[in-house]
Amino acid sequence: MAVELDLGPKARAFRDELRDWLEANRPGELEGVESERAAFGDVPGIAEWTEKLYKAGYLCVAWPEEYGGRGLTGLEVVVMNEEFGRAGVPRVTRGMGEWLVGPSIIVWGTDEQKAHFLPRIIEGKDRYCQGFSEPDAGSDLASLKTRAIVDGDEVVITGQKVWTSGALLANMMFCLCRTDPDAPKHRGISYVLTPMKRENGESNGFDLRPIKQLTGSSYFTETFINEARAPLFNVIGGLNNGWRVTMTTLGNERGGNATTQHVQYTRQFWAAVELARELGLDTDPLVRQQLAWAYTHCEIMRFQGLRLLAEVIAKKEPGPASALNKMFWSEYAQRFAENITNWRGMASTVLPSDGTGDYPLDKWQQSFLSTRSVTIWGGTAQVQRNIVSERVLGMPKEPGSGD
Ligand SMILES: Cc1cc2nc3c(=O)[nH]c(=O)nc-3n(C[C@H](O)[C@H](O)[C@H](O)COP(=O)(O)OP(=O)(O)OC[C@H]3O[C@@H](n4cnc5c(N)ncnc54)[C@H](O)[C@@H]3O)c2cc1C
Repeated sequence: MAVELDLGPKARAFRDELRDWLEANRPGELEGVESERAAFGDVPGIAEWTEKLYKAGYLCVAWPEEYGGRGLTGLEVVVMNEEFGRAGVPRVTRGMGEWLVGPSIIVWGTDEQKAHFLPRIIEGKDRYCQGFSEPDAGSDLASLKTRAIVDGDEVVITGQKVWTSGALLANMMFCLCRTDPDAPKHRGISYVLTPMKRENGESNGFDLRPIKQLTGSSYFTETFINEARAPLFNVIGGLNNGWRVTMTTLGNERGGNATTQHVQYTRQFWAAVELARELGLDTDPLVRQQLAWAYTHCEIMRFQGLRLLAEVIAKKEPGPASALNKMFWSEYAQRFAENITNWRGMASTVLPSDGTGDYPLDKWQQSFLSTRSVTIWGGTAQVQRNIVSERVLGMPKEPGSGD
């Protein structure tokens, strides 16, 4: 197993406390369930486990205590990820609310906005989906056309979003819309926390059309928005200043999981070692080389996570180097899943009778199919390379990429 790093006395004390708590409370039925799968919310026992973590104060742990968080340092969060990984149970979170919206409100929100929105995320009252991408605005997100007009103390939003993950489970969207059509494209955008239902329970102008995915499920939707209303109070970072808030959100999407990813992939690595034994491939030199490659990558991921953490501690939010994290884990995950698919040969193509999902897939098939998307969402692999070359290495910008 990987060497446990000594992260200092405070982190050590927290590790002891958490290890005891997990020992006493870990739900046996969730053993081996990946945190990412748990995030989809369709795993039996996950709602009870989330409630238990909420009551014990283990959700949104890095947020300030005054807003219901635990004020944990980055190092303590590393410890938390390691200990949940060690206990073999998912570290559930409040999804995009915890991972993307909360950290952006903490950087850009007013005190009133923090006091209103953050506790609602921790308590599970608000569940967010991300309204960024549009049919003609993906990599070039700043070309988005969804518009909003100010009407009294509200904004009224009309447009179309696409690939909206988790929209059917959400009650709030963090939505990007154009509030000044005459401004250069990166300006004139606002970041609006938009309720998806009105107070009377009717839809707030949202029409959600599920899209069938490769894995058989329909986790995301085409999202049509017709005059959705949100209070001006829900505009984060000020009107027309949404692009800067978006950069904070995307920094977290690409780097916020840097200290967690290796836990999941290391666990998957050990499952692959077991599989190689079962298939009688553990003496095959190519398989052994692929396993050594995988282990090395999991360890690099772990240390890269700590490196990014040092940057976050210094600058308060993930910078452009978070693109390296996204590039590294996503391309690794795809290649790893391809290797396993090859080891299993024909068995990879046969659907099991006891799989999960809309049509049955075993965990390796699920991993192979679902990792096709990881080099697309959160910014494609090519876009990450552009960010690294321009903003980390200081190379010239692509023509037309700025305003
Ligand atoms: C599983 C999944 C979940 C998603 N969830 C959400 C969500 O919840 N909310 C949301 O808003 N969006 C979501 N998305 C959308 C995602 O953010 C976009 O798909 C992504 O940003 C790419 O945009 P696009 O699909 O329009 O592709 P395009 O931008 O059209 O890109 C097409 C191809 O051209 C390449 N390309 C484009 N521009 C450049 C460039 N400047 N330099 C080099 N190559 C370039 C790309 O790398 C890609 O290979 C999700 C996507 C997936 C697959």
